[in-house]
Amino acid sequence: MKTACFDGKQMKYVQNYPYPKPEESLVKVNLAGICGTDLEILGGYMEYRGILGHEFVGTVKHSDNSNLVGKRVVGEINVGCNECDNCKKDLQRHCPNRTVLGILKRDGAFAEFLSLPSENLHVIPDSISDEQAVFIEPLAAAFEIKEQVSLNPEWVVAVVGDGRLAQMICQVLKLSCSNVTCFGKHQSKLKHMKKLSILTKIGIDSLSHQFFDLVVEATGSNSGFTDTMKLVKPRGTVILKSTIASRENLDLTPTIVNEITLIGSRCGLFKPAIDALATGMISVDFMIDSIYPLENFSDAIEHAKKSDTFKVFLKP
Ligand SMILES: [Zn+2]
Ligand SMILES: [Zn+2]
Repeated sequence: MKTACFDGKQMKYVQNYPYPKPEESLVKVNLAGICGTDLEILGGYMEYRGILGHEFVGTVKHSDNSNLVGKRVVGEINVGCNECDNCKKDLQRHCPNRTVLGILKRDGAFAEFLSLPSENLHVIPDSISDEQAVFIEPLAAAFEIKEQVSLNPEWVVAVVGDGRLAQMICQVLKLSCSNVTCFGKHQSKLKHMKKLSILTKIGIDSLSHQFFDLVVEATGSNSGFTDTMKLVKPRGTVILKSTIASRENLDLTPTIVNEITLIGSRCGLFKPAIDALATGMISVDFMIDSIYPLENFSDAIEHAKKSDTFKVFLKP
């Protein structure tokens, strides 16, 4: 099959890559999204080798679950051993022996086909387009915040970052809290937030210092952490969403002095994300930038790296 494969140094277009595991459900990839994590992996994060891509929508070609065959699906990306304590608690994403689609010991979605266990797959309704469906994985990560923190509607909330994930987190928080501010760097990226009655700011002014009960850091950069710590109130809560290759020189002193609760947050369950897209509760269409054929992956990656880009897709 055709893939764009990463050898640890660069991505290469390969025409005759072996097909994925026959013991799992085989999915023909309709569309895959390029995410910040993919760009981090290309920069050395996780020391991953193989096919990248973990945001996808596809059509099931073979499966041990006959109800899935021929259906349009998205897939949860963590595959656990199903034997350890975490897996028994349905926390496959914390299984020490897990594989992760396109991130850890498992080939991903920048290919004609991928495989996942049938229990990882979710059929999506026709009301969700292919482009929208690719956002389900990162939107699930945004909804994970609601699983981890009991959001008080009175809270004054901030999100640091104006990229794809930050935009979705703002919208998810807005469902529970009326006062949400997005701190961004690009006026063009904040336009849509304003339409959704989310307050927007470029840069951090002194009035915002220690003003927020909850701050979510979703910049994908080290400087985001420093900004986040400026915004949070003493005894407030900080949620860290960025997985970045380097977290050097992080100063944790303010965390201790101000007794901040730090929460790391990663993947989430797909169900709330699928429902939110199907009912139009969350909008993602404004983030659809461009679709490239898989063989033009290098142009797509360059496009994804640009600061004013939201989401670039690859079509095998
Ligand atoms: Zn991602
Ligand atoms: Zn396990």
